[in-house]
Amino acid sequence: MSEMNMPTIPSDRPLLVFCDFDGTFSVQDVGSTLAHRLLPEKRKRLWKRFETGEFTAWSYVKALFHGLSFPEKDLERFLETIDLDPGAQALLDWCRDEDVPFWILSDGFDWNLERLQAMNHIDFDYHANHLEYEGDRWRVDASRPSETCGCGTGSCKREIIASYRRSHPDAYCVHIGNGRVSDLCGAIEADLAFAKDSLAPAMDEAGHTYVPFETLHDVIAVLSSREVFTGSQGVTS
Ligand SMILES: [Mg+2]
Ligand SMILES: [Zn+2]
Repeated sequence: MSEMNMPTIPSDRPLLVFCDFDGTFSVQDVGSTLAHRLLPEKRKRLWKRFETGEFTAWSYVKALFHGLSFPEKDLERFLETIDLDPGAQALLDWCRDEDVPFWILSDGFDWNLERLQAMNHIDFDYHANHLEYEGDRWRVDASRPSETCGCGTGSCKREIIASYRRSHPDAYCVHIGNGRVSDLCGAIEADLAFAKDSLAPAMDEAGHTYVPFETLHDVIAVLSSREVFTGSQGVTS
């Protein structure tokens, strides 16, 4: 990334870092990879209905996964195939060293985040939807849907970031994400957004600036430049 693309991050405001999990902190998207493998036909059918507006993002997820029979030991084996972004550990370390609060904001499930932390020997705070087992079957619940946002997700990132802002009015909120459905509202709410995959063109369409990135190492490079660089906010109009 060239110096010109470096955003100005104020050094006199406390940083708060929010990060999407699926496809951002992890390489693969847990839910969508699982749906492609286990439920290819059902996924296709429901996705069409999502695209025509018949489902919200959450009602699509619920229709897809609620009641799914997928024993814990099979889920465990599947989760072992999920890789973390090459900069994931470094971002956690950087935030810890800099005393910067770090939150995973996920429209996936708490169960999977708990297991993936244990498997990878890492530890982070998170907001996510709820999954529990009833025998071998999944029971899923939305954690924080918004009636006003319009994102339709089970865990509205705009509302979560806005509620942190209310309790930390000086905070400079950063959101890192990759998906137009679950990350757009949080990316717009944040003071600074890092975007890749479908989130980047969605931010362009919405007329919001963002910093493009490939791995979380790129994000760390920008965040750690905060007292060094001055320049334009974001890189696109
Ligand atoms: Mg994602
Ligand atoms: Zn939202």
